[in-house]
Amino acid sequence: MNDSKNGSWDLSPAPESTGHIKLEKSYDLFINGKFQPSAGGLRYKSINPANEKVIAEVTESTEADVDKAVKAARAAYDKHWSKTSPRDRGKYVYRIARMIQEKARELAVIESLDGGKPIRESRDVDIPLAAAHFFYYAGWADKLDYAFPNRKPKPVGVAGQIIPWNFPLLMAAWKIAPALATGNTVVLKPAETTSLTALKLAEIIQEAGLPPGVVNIVTGHGKIGAALVNHKDVDKIAFTGSTDVGKIIQKSIAGTDKQCTLELGGKAANIIFDDATIDQAVEGIVDGIYFNQGHVCCAGSRLFVQESVHDEVIRKLKFRMNSLIVGDPLDKNTDIGAINSREQLATINSYIEIGKQEGAKFYQPDCELPNEGYWCRPSLFTDVAQSNRIAQEEIFGPVLAVQTFRTVAEVIEKANNTPYGLSAGVWTDKGSKIFNLTSQMRAGVVWANTYNKFDPSSPFGGYKESGFGREGGLHGLSAYLKT
Ligand code: NAP
Ligand code: MG
Repeated sequence: MNDSKNGSWDLSPAPESTGHIKLEKSYDLFINGKFQPSAGGLRYKSINPANEKVIAEVTESTEADVDKAVKAARAAYDKHWSKTSPRDRGKYVYRIARMIQEKARELAVIESLDGGKPIRESRDVDIPLAAAHFFYYAGWADKLDYAFPNRKPKPVGVAGQIIPWNFPLLMAAWKIAPALATGNTVVLKPAETTSLTALKLAEIIQEAGLPPGVVNIVTGHGKIGAALVNHKDVDKIAFTGSTDVGKIIQKSIAGTDKQCTLELGGKAANIIFDDATIDQAVEGIVDGIYFNQGHVCCAGSRLFVQESVHDEVIRKLKFRMNSLIVGDPLDKNTDIGAINSREQLATINSYIEIGKQEGAKFYQPDCELPNEGYWCRPSLFTDVAQSNRIAQEEIFGPVLAVQTFRTVAEVIEKANNTPYGLSAGVWTDKGSKIFNLTSQMRAGVVWANTYNKFDPSSPFGGYKESGFGREGGLHGLSAYLKT
């Protein structure tokens, strides 16, 4: 049936089956190669944000568990991992990559169930990229002397790694793969709302036969992250998450000799020039802010449109927004899944109110939303002022703030005028404009005529309050080495 409102097609439901996935009712902690209960005995529920049903119970660790995990990682480092040949390390990392590929369908479904992201994203982006990171870093394990000639690279030791809920397995891969390839052992804390794929990864690591204690996974709330940060025997902290928590971590480790990388928030500028291919750019805008519910640190949440094409871009964008399908994350046609948690939905809604009060013009398509679960329609603010909070602060939801510009100099100044500097996009027909912008933008990544493209071989990371250090590529190796 053709829906006359937007010219799109009403599609029959196409849900991915869940029959093939294997989840325990309750998960222990993964320490020293075994799943073991916490001494504290506390558990919390991991729910499906699309229907608020409990998927599994997860352990709330205690500080004693963190200590046990760090001790296991230290012992594994001393006894096994530092004595494992680089070539064998590479084989283990490669094996993990292969097993992620073999279990890709199961992992994708669990990622969507637990986190709310559309199956299209978890199946086509998150899981393949997670495997790709393990493959990529497996290749480096025995070539570190070539990567860092004459610098005798040595592992840092025990890495404490803390990750957010927006790309659960992918962030675990970003952290674990380079750490193992470079000879470190690991204690990882996933986000409290999305621990399940990290625990499935623990099963894979067990099955891959890694020596016990090389990877340990402790679940729980923020204070468990803090316990890991403050543990005396952790040599390096790798954190991805909010700028606020990043600042706390930096203060906690000041004066210690812990190494640290911080991958924090963002408020990316997506810039459309009048010579851009507008239809393609509109697709890039949608990809940049609406797919994945805007739960992306590098989401193109600020749109800058050259004045002469503003009306055309907004008209086409609204038309496209009307065709976006919001709903069941497991449905293969879904564009926008569930918001990750009740708290995050409340944050997004409060920013929508702030934007309205600030006087920006608000637009949302009137698509239906499911009765249960946490949902947000794709949202658009036009006539936004540079000083508005919706143009300055990270919302982490499907909310776009639009401003206009006339000249290149003006848009560079506006785009750089934020505390963040993680990523940006530029859409133009002119290569010279692309080079001019990429060299003047204070952003770790600048995409040209595309958006949200990732590859394990390219480094990723921020400027300013978006953090420091790089993950991915050769740069990602050096974060886990003493050279
Ligand atoms: P968050 O609140 O900072 O949490 C991130 C992780 O830190 C979670 O595992 C969290 O545990 C833990 N944590 C909380 N308080 C802590 C503390 N005091 N000490 C140590 N760990 C602590 O961030 P989020 O809301 O989960 O994630 C969204 C943020 O991540 C956004 O700002 C986004 O931009 C950023 N992000 C950045 C990148 C990047 O590469 N730059 C990538 C993805 C996301 P709980 O889950 O239990 O709170
Ligand atoms: Mg969940």
